[in-house]
Amino acid sequence: MSRFLFRCLLAAVTATGTLTAISSPALAHGGPTAAIVDTARGHGNVFSLTFDDGPNPPDTLALLKVLRKHHVKAVFCLVGDQVKAHPEVVRRIAAEGHTLCNHSLHHDDLSALTPAQIRADLAETSKLIHQAVPWAHIAYFRAPYGAWGQSPQVAADLGMQPLGWRFDIEDWVPPGTDVLAQRIRDRITPGAVALMHDGGGDRSQTVAAVDQIIPELRAQGWRFTLPQRRG
Ligand SMILES: [Zn+2]
Repeated sequence: MSRFLFRCLLAAVTATGTLTAISSPALAHGGPTAAIVDTARGHGNVFSLTFDDGPNPPDTLALLKVLRKHHVKAVFCLVGDQVKAHPEVVRRIAAEGHTLCNHSLHHDDLSALTPAQIRADLAETSKLIHQAVPWAHIAYFRAPYGAWGQSPQVAADLGMQPLGWRFDIEDWVPPGTDVLAQRIRDRITPGAVALMHDGGGDRSQTVAAVDQIIPELRAQGWRFTLPQRRG
């Protein structure tokens, strides 16, 4: 065990001991803040993959297979309506060790809503996720269209860290697998959180581009990590 890892473990034990007295689950997890995180964990050539608008079989299932093959963990930002339609896919995502993110109930623009309205939307979405996977921890919230409004503070109050992104591969209208792979090569920067989609349409090109790019980037020294836990 490296000295660094030992210090981390020691810090975790100490933190757990200290935090048991605090009742808030949010604080016990280090406390989400209203700051929008768009940075991958770790130093150097680290990079986070995040996938929005699912679950969306068969593309989500194909993506899970690709991520498993390459031993990469990602974040899935789930839409409540999709969770309701495909709870078994949410179970698969969680069972394979990926991280869950609340992406609102109907993929509405939340920017004009009051905090109470936003809270109702987010809470209902999390309830649907928990109906699918009772043990799931929903670490993040991402606002549809990046239209945050007052949602970052509401999300933090509900124990979820707002999750942004540094670049979008713009896979809304699929331009071809090679174009998507090239966008990732062109836009990747150290510490970037990347926004991609496994839902909202046919995402087979996104899945194929991810399959192509992971070994290539890894060979260049890139590491795939999750986004930072808090802002
Ligand atoms: Zn979305």
